[in-house]
Amino acid sequence: MTFYEDMSPYSYWKRGDIFTDKTTGLRFLTFEPAYERLNIGWLSDDQPWASGPVPPAFVESLTAALDVQAVNELMGLHECEFCPPLDMSSYEPLPGHQRSSVGTGEIRIPFKPGSAFAAPTLIGHYVIDHGYRPPAPFIDAVLAFDPRGTSSARYPWVHFPWIPEDAVLDEVE
Ligand SMILES: [Zn+2]
Repeated sequence: MTFYEDMSPYSYWKRGDIFTDKTTGLRFLTFEPAYERLNIGWLSDDQPWASGPVPPAFVESLTAALDVQAVNELMGLHECEFCPPLDMSSYEPLPGHQRSSVGTGEIRIPFKPGSAFAAPTLIGHYVIDHGYRPPAPFIDAVLAFDPRGTSSARYPWVHFPWIPEDAVLDEVE
C-alpha cells in the first residue's frame, strides 16, 4: 500500500469524499470536504511505525466506525504488506487474526474543527492484529467520536458530522 506519514495532508484521492450507505450499498453521498484531511495508518513494510498497547475503548470505537463508515471505497484495494498475500476472492482473516489483511475504502474521524483524520479501513487490522499504535491525537479523536451517532437528518446513514449543503446524493436503482 502506498505509504503516507501519519498526520501528513491526505492526497490519496484528490477529489471529493464519497460516503457509501453501508446498509444498502446503493447510495453514495459525494462532496468537496470543507475540512482538512490528515493521513493516519497508511503503513508500509519499508517505513517504521509505532507499536504498543492502546486503550480497549479506542479499539471499540474504531471498530464501530469501521462498521458504519465506507468512504472512497471504490478507489482501489489495499493490502497489508506485513501479511502473506490473500486469495482475493476471500476477505476472511488469516488464522490467528481478527480482521482481514485486505480492504477497500477509508474512514473519517473528526479531529479539531475543520480537520478530520483519513485512515484506510485496514487500520483496524493494523491495530488489532499487528499492534499498531496510532499517534495520540488520533486515539483521542476516536475516543471522543460517537460513530453510531449522526448529525444529518437528510442523510442519517452518514455517520460523520460535517455534511455540507451541496452534497450530491446518487442512488443506484
Ligand atoms: Zn497484516
